[in-house]
Amino acid sequence: MNLQYILCNICGCNDTRLITIQNNYKVVCCKQCGLVYLNSRPDSAHLAYLYENYHLRNGKREYSWAYLMEKNYREASKLLSRKFPRKGKILDIGCGYGYFLERMNALGWETAGIDLSPKTISYATGKGLNVVESSVENISFPKSSFDAITAFYVMEHLPDPYSAVKKIYSLLKPGGIFILRVPHTTPIVRFLLLFHIKNNLYDTPYHLYDFSPKTITLLLKKAGFTAIRVEPGSPTLPNSFLEKMVSIVSGKISRMFFSISRGKILIPGTSKTTIAYKP
Ligand SMILES: [Zn+2]
Repeated sequence: MNLQYILCNICGCNDTRLITIQNNYKVVCCKQCGLVYLNSRPDSAHLAYLYENYHLRNGKREYSWAYLMEKNYREASKLLSRKFPRKGKILDIGCGYGYFLERMNALGWETAGIDLSPKTISYATGKGLNVVESSVENISFPKSSFDAITAFYVMEHLPDPYSAVKKIYSLLKPGGIFILRVPHTTPIVRFLLLFHIKNNLYDTPYHLYDFSPKTITLLLKKAGFTAIRVEPGSPTLPNSFLEKMVSIVSGKISRMFFSISRGKILIPGTSKTTIAYKP
């Protein structure tokens, strides 16, 4: 395996502070803009090899993903139905087995999906969904094709998130919406480090980045997006009882603080949903 050394994806800076080492990978924080990322990281060939069985690792099955993401999918579909009462055209990046696309199809949307995994693509194709095996950068749709683009738990896996969001911006029609959801692990890791508690919460080397509300906003702004809003969103539902309880309780606390502070307080360390528009 070859390792690849990179510069900060947002500001291009080469000045970082080490946060921790997990699975032998260094997780660093850019001193300029605060972006947290893996440096060095596996090259693209090794990442492709690692992803061959990604969707089935830790005992996950096809239906586990539908269950895990159920609340997020429902929330996003409601928002889209509200914003586009006359329906529209949607692209789901990292569509996996296609559960979100099925939901949007049922609501009358024209749907398309991409994923890097040949296994999930063949599963989704088998259900009659319009999906292709592709990276974001290599998508072949014409510019200004979509009213909405979604990416649930995708950005943290991408080698070059800035190029990806620029591409997403170009694929959206003016007035189009981009909905994404990412984990935010750094505050928890920093907290555990205070007590010298070892962990692999960054999920290295699958997660190449850890976005905070500040850095995801910076990234989207740089690509031209406006009206960027970061919210707690709905929690995922992991299969294990303990993980599910942690996710539900932290999600409830996060939404409660967000609500009583009228959108000012975002509890650190929980996943967030970001909504952005192409002007
Ligand atoms: Zn930076």
